[in-house]
Amino acid sequence: MSKVYHTETSQKLPQNLTNHAQIWAEIFQKVLKNHKTIGMLFLLFVIFSFAFVGYIFQSLNNTKSKLQVHFLDVGQGDAILIQVGNSNSMLIDSGPQNEKVISEIQKFKNIFDRNLNILLATHADADHIGSMKKVIEKFGFQRFTFSGLSSETKIFKDLMTSIGDTDLIAKLKEKNIHDTSPQMHQRLLTLTAGMSIVLDQQDNVHFDVLFPDFDFQIEAYQKCKNGMQNKNESSGQNKIKSKTISKTQKRNPCLKFLSTETNLNSVVGKLTFGSTSFILTGDAPIEVEDFIIKKYGERIHADVLKLGHHGSKTSTSPNFLNVVSPNFAVISAGIGNRYNHPHKIVLDNLNAFKEKDSNFRRTLRTDIDGTISFYSDAKNLTIKTSK
Ligand SMILES: [Zn+2]
Repeated sequence: MSKVYHTETSQKLPQNLTNHAQIWAEIFQKVLKNHKTIGMLFLLFVIFSFAFVGYIFQSLNNTKSKLQVHFLDVGQGDAILIQVGNSNSMLIDSGPQNEKVISEIQKFKNIFDRNLNILLATHADADHIGSMKKVIEKFGFQRFTFSGLSSETKIFKDLMTSIGDTDLIAKLKEKNIHDTSPQMHQRLLTLTAGMSIVLDQQDNVHFDVLFPDFDFQIEAYQKCKNGMQNKNESSGQNKIKSKTISKTQKRNPCLKFLSTETNLNSVVGKLTFGSTSFILTGDAPIEVEDFIIKKYGERIHADVLKLGHHGSKTSTSPNFLNVVSPNFAVISAGIGNRYNHPHKIVLDNLNAFKEKDSNFRRTLRTDIDGTISFYSDAKNLTIKTSK
């Protein structure tokens, strides 16, 4: 069955609301001329009316599109807000330390809903967890999910401290921001392939975890070891050259596959609602993509693919594009970022894929389009961008 994709380019108020605003402004000017106090009361009435109309408008919009996926414009990093109906929400990554994510989230939450249910950190890099601590302080959470990876960075250690901070939990409760369990181990959930996060039971909105996968670690480690052995045998050397890794890894560079390299443990998942779906990849590199293709085949087909690692050439192989076969590609990158993400090779691959696959519609980029929002009614998608 073919799908319908609606594209809208901005999130402006509807025209009829704008016209009403002009009429109210004119009436207010007339009243203010005659009576100052009545004028101020009138102003307050108008402000509350608009807040109420905005809330109703947003609620109606939410009812029509049960699932909303917002790729937030947070600069160089990833932050994806998933809203399910008016109740359940999930944030995948928080972007860098610039805290832009806070105001971005607030744009999609009405004044009566200031909670986040599930937080997911795809991996421990600063451009993914940089503002997570602030997010916790502002919105709280019920479950913090991650790849189980630990890191020595200050950002990661601070984040873990804030998850277990009982003072903060008490403060959040005072503000009626939920945080259901004081026990840290009950609030932390390590994700592995095969798990599924159910965001709405009735309508079966779910996030299936495709990665990390222990089989990959063993397989990749073994492959690397065999490769090293062959190399050493053919060159007659026992010395392993490496300039980028620790002493332990110098002795055995294949150890990076056993969970010391962060991108190699990035959480990858598929979000599904009805016949609409999204593949979300964190910073997963091509080795991980290859493993996922081998394990899941066409089950990873999706309408939307969030490219791995901000469009770096280390991710999004032509083969991965072919198997996912998306209608939309999303790249989360900052304007003029110092890594030159997205890479020209990846953009060329996307253009080549577009030539080949007539179902592919377009590539969207947060550095060009701002925040990119998808609204799903289980069958069709509507796309809005903030720029
Ligand atoms: Zn990243």
